[in-house]
Amino acid sequence: MIIKEVNLETVCGYTSKLPDNQKPEIAFAGKSNVGKSSLINALMNRKSLARTSAQPGKTQTINFYNINDVMYLVDLPGYGYAKVAESEKKKWGQMIENYLHNSKQLRAVFLLIDIRHAPSANDKMMYDWIVYQGYEPIIIATKMDKLKRSQISKHVKLVREGLGLKKESIVIPFSATSKQGREEIWNLMDSILES
Ligand code: GDP
Repeated sequence: MIIKEVNLETVCGYTSKLPDNQKPEIAFAGKSNVGKSSLINALMNRKSLARTSAQPGKTQTINFYNINDVMYLVDLPGYGYAKVAESEKKKWGQMIENYLHNSKQLRAVFLLIDIRHAPSANDKMMYDWIVYQGYEPIIIATKMDKLKRSQISKHVKLVREGLGLKKESIVIPFSATSKQGREEIWNLMDSILES
């Protein structure tokens, strides 16, 4: 897709009602610091539209970006902050669960995993959660520039094994620095929107 216009149209907090969007939605999930904001900015060709470098205690929101008036890119709140209070974690969980369960327009969920490390218990939980809600997550293995080229396939395998992915599940290595993987992600999103 050629990005002509991007608008952060809706920001939902814990108590907000989800928007009744009429256009397809594609959501992005991942633990804090995995590189989700950097990926979203790269996909939208914007330097800093999505918040980068999350800080502990920052407001957890679901952000809906209207792209070209044809789709919504949905930025789900990052998980896995050890310092966040249990009550906040619970709210976070309810918010994501509520969204995955109730969105009528959600077409696909991308789950971001840091390519350098085996998936954490939280990553696995998020994966299972998305599957439970009826979606097969598409995995984006972030920060691929931090590995040597020769290490990438070994690490993709680690991610696959760690999450217990099905054979046909898709893993796309991505780098926000080189933008490698960006086109593949957009091609996939375009085909999802067309189907
Ligand atoms: P978020 O918390 O998931 O939104 O993560 P951010 O996008 O804010 O990224 C967290 C940190 O990782 C920042 O310092 C980014 O500059 C860095 N980062 C994100 N993506 C990449 C990447 O592809 N390569 C490298 N080398 N650093 C990245």
